[in-house]
Amino acid sequence: MIVDLRSDTVTKPTQGMLEAMWSAPVGDDVYGEDETVNALESKLASMFGMEAGLFCPSGTMTNQIAIKCFTQPMDEVIADETAHVYRYEGGGIAFNSAASVRLLNGDRGRLTAKDIEPHINPDNIHYPRTSLVVLENTVNRGGGSCYTIAQIEPIQQLCRKHSLKLHLDGARLFNALVATGDNPKDYGRLFDGISICLSKGLGAPVGSVLLGSKETIKQARRVRKVFGGGMRQAGYLAAAGIYALDHQVERLQTDHEHARLLGEALEKQNYVQSVMPVDTNIVIFELDLRLPAEEFVAKMAANGVKCSTFGHQMVRFVTHHDVSSEMINYTLTILNQ
Ligand SMILES: *Cc1c(COP(=O)(O)O)cnc(C)c1O
Repeated sequence: MIVDLRSDTVTKPTQGMLEAMWSAPVGDDVYGEDETVNALESKLASMFGMEAGLFCPSGTMTNQIAIKCFTQPMDEVIADETAHVYRYEGGGIAFNSAASVRLLNGDRGRLTAKDIEPHINPDNIHYPRTSLVVLENTVNRGGGSCYTIAQIEPIQQLCRKHSLKLHLDGARLFNALVATGDNPKDYGRLFDGISICLSKGLGAPVGSVLLGSKETIKQARRVRKVFGGGMRQAGYLAAAGIYALDHQVERLQTDHEHARLLGEALEKQNYVQSVMPVDTNIVIFELDLRLPAEEFVAKMAANGVKCSTFGHQMVRFVTHHDVSSEMINYTLTILNQ
């Protein structure tokens, strides 16, 4: 048996999803004529109570477009030091937006208004102008930690007080929504931009959607073209996203349950030093010093379980649509042997 716990990006479309893609009505989306893309964008926008959406090839692109729309060159962006927008987008904030980043040290990647406030620069020519705060939910490097709406409210109030924009890297926002039971419309109310990945836990093959006001998305559409992200008959891909939203959201609960089982088993192993709390579909753990992460990952791979090293002595497991309960049981057997 092969169990792929490296990432929730490895899922393949189901038969039902392929049929939805196959039969999607399409057109040229750069002309705004692809009705399936338009349907996906408005479906997500109305789910979150936002005015408009923009379908893009990747979550990196939706994040980078949002940052470009919400900053001017020489501005500063506030984010947690673990943030995907900073760590895993190839230095895109500097390259695309000519902005600097102020990195804070949150609780498993989660920031509070109190963390942020002292780092908002005063209006003084020595300092870059703080213009944007980026939050991530769930936090990848935080072991899938999530915010609740109650935790985000004070951050939004702080941003409004200082005229800062607030963007959400919601690559795994649906995992957070399923875990907390929060209402998506509250997210739409609090954020100026929201990026949602369809190709993570939702199980679509490609794509992310940026949500925002009509004005933001109009500008975002311009930036997407400049970034080379204007796609033509993209409805075939958007159809997979619509299918995922209709059929593959509630089942995220199963991924969370699977992750919890893995976390509990790891807690009991003498070769494991510590396991981060498991809130959603990500399990990050630290190995005992005698067992290097590479060695553990190689041993698991030899038994058919693929996982990723995640820094010094650290390993990450991610559960997803294509990991069945049988596969989890098999993995538990390997861990316990
Ligand atoms: C995966 C991911 C993204 C987007 O990544 P792409 O590979 O560009 O789609 C953004 N933020 C987080 C937290 C992610 O995990």
